Amino acid sequence: MLTHDQLKHELEEFSFIKWFDIDDKSNFFSVLVKFQVNYEENKDVFLIRNTVRIEFSKNENFDNIANLPRAYNHDRGVESYSHLNPNGSFCVATPEDLKDRLKKDGNVVKSFLTAIIGYLFQYEYWRKYGVQPVGERSHGDQGLAESRTEKIWENYLQPFDIDSIEVVRKLLLIPRLRKHMKKDSCPCGSRKLFGKCHYSTLQSMQRDKYTWNQAKIDIRQLNLLERKYNA
Ligand SMILES: [Zn+2]
Repeated sequence: MLTHDQLKHELEEFSFIKWFDIDDKSNFFSVLVKFQVNYEENKDVFLIRNTVRIEFSKNENFDNIANLPRAYNHDRGVESYSHLNPNGSFCVATPEDLKDRLKKDGNVVKSFLTAIIGYLFQYEYWRKYGVQPVGERSHGDQGLAESRTEKIWENYLQPFDIDSIEVVRKLLLIPRLRKHMKKDSCPCGSRKLFGKCHYSTLQSMQRDKYTWNQAKIDIRQLNLLERKYNA
């Protein structure tokens, strides 16, 4: 539960804030925050000077993503930026990433304010150079789907020691292994015999009922996510 005093204290501590005003709504705090800072990155200086409206939910159970903090443009700036959610809020991170970060940091207000500074820096960088400082990413639901997809694939790339999702997909779609398949060439494209390449890894996965069922569920989920977002 976030309290007024706690919020005020954190806002006062944050050195990039010039002034702020807290409006106590019943379920959340609506805070106007004026950021002002010369943000230095690789000897390049970006002037960040934005007033942002931030909503901090009093309920800090972030398993409900409705409770995640949100930031909106208040005066000048980011309307033209591509990283805005459909409701106009800043796409600071995907909900999954934001949830992880806030949980890990423990201090929600400070952690979110830091994220906002990072976001405003990205915006200034983009305005100056026309590209993102750390590469392009998707935002909103698509970003969420991408991060979920990545997490699922990570579980399989490592055991197979493969870095191609397409190859892992091929292996996971093999129904039941039969001994005679050992003499085929491995589906991974290594030109080795299946029996001397990925056969045994796949076999141990298939032997473990729980793992293999989970793999089937994952593949289904990945196909759904990909169909939805590559349409
Ligand atoms: Zn192989």
